Amino acid sequence: MSGLALDGKKINQDILNELRPRVEALQAKARPPALAVVLVGDDPASHIYVRNKIKACQDLGIRSIDAAPAAGISTDELLRLIRDFNRDRQVDAILVQSPLPKHIDEKQILLAIDPAKDADGFHPFNVGNLVANRPAPRACTPAGIVEMLKRYRIPLAGKRAVVVGRSDIVGKPMALMLLHENSTVAICHSKTHDLPAECRRAEILVAAIGKPALITREHLSPGVVVIDVGMNRLNDPAVVLRLFGHDPRRLAAFEKNGTTLIGDVDPLAMQEISSAYTPVPGGVGPLTIAMLMANTVQLAESHLASVSGEC
Ligand code: NDP
Repeated sequence: MSGLALDGKKINQDILNELRPRVEALQAKARPPALAVVLVGDDPASHIYVRNKIKACQDLGIRSIDAAPAAGISTDELLRLIRDFNRDRQVDAILVQSPLPKHIDEKQILLAIDPAKDADGFHPFNVGNLVANRPAPRACTPAGIVEMLKRYRIPLAGKRAVVVGRSDIVGKPMALMLLHENSTVAICHSKTHDLPAECRRAEILVAAIGKPALITREHLSPGVVVIDVGMNRLNDPAVVLRLFGHDPRRLAAFEKNGTTLIGDVDPLAMQEISSAYTPVPGGVGPLTIAMLMANTVQLAESHLASVSGEC
């Protein structure tokens, strides 16, 4: 038996299609929503992520304002840029692509973003709103995961959910969102004793670790729903053959490109043991962008409502 592959690309399209009339309504009433995207320096992976985000804006009719300061920009200069965007009434949402160069104080930058323009939902004010389950922009990756689980009608209430990873951008907000959906949640991390036993208790398992195929057969109970957030690059042919020997198409693509993406979960084990799972790529990744667009539209609607209230 093979688990159902949850189709992140389809859910992405569904969410974007639902956002389209809201973008058009904003445009008709005032102006299109506007997202400022700040990309510092020339990290190749960040460039790809930002290009995809800007493309999603263009496709949807959201105005993207791209700021790409050189890697040498100081924390103070970057703070000034953020404050300018905070003051600019033509900007609804601000995103600062991480990682920032090491000399920049990333925490200070995140704190400087106006919480009412916080496209990623990372500002501590909005993290507080998440803890209190109040409306606010939510971290895009876990919000997209909850959205997908709901759209596939995968029940969450009363289910035992295990989140592996406790980062501020995925693991912690994921655990809180599952808690708000009435799952019974455990969070595991690098100091967890007997990770396989903890994971085997899961009916819903979220892996957000950043280690290729760390989660193996021994971590999975039959029928578990597996959400694989990890995005890891494999370049070693022996490892690729071990993990994708069952998948001739993947092997051929690796042969051609010399690299392939893998999640945090052993792909064959996940397919064979789960009742449903997110493939890598094509599972969680597309949801993150869809929720970034959703946050931007929501923030633009709130701004329009507050400006209308002022008149
Ligand atoms: P972080 O590195 O910030 O966090 C990783 C977490 O995994 C930490 O909490 C760490 O524990 C835990 N961990 C590390 N090793 C182990 C281990 N051996 N056993 C148990 N837990 C372990 O990563 P992120 O949360 O930012 O990202 C995780 C993965 O998700 C990455 O592959 C990233 O690329 C991907 N990602 C994908 C996105 C998408 O859109 N698809 C979006 C964001 C991330 P500890 O806290 O103890 O160190």
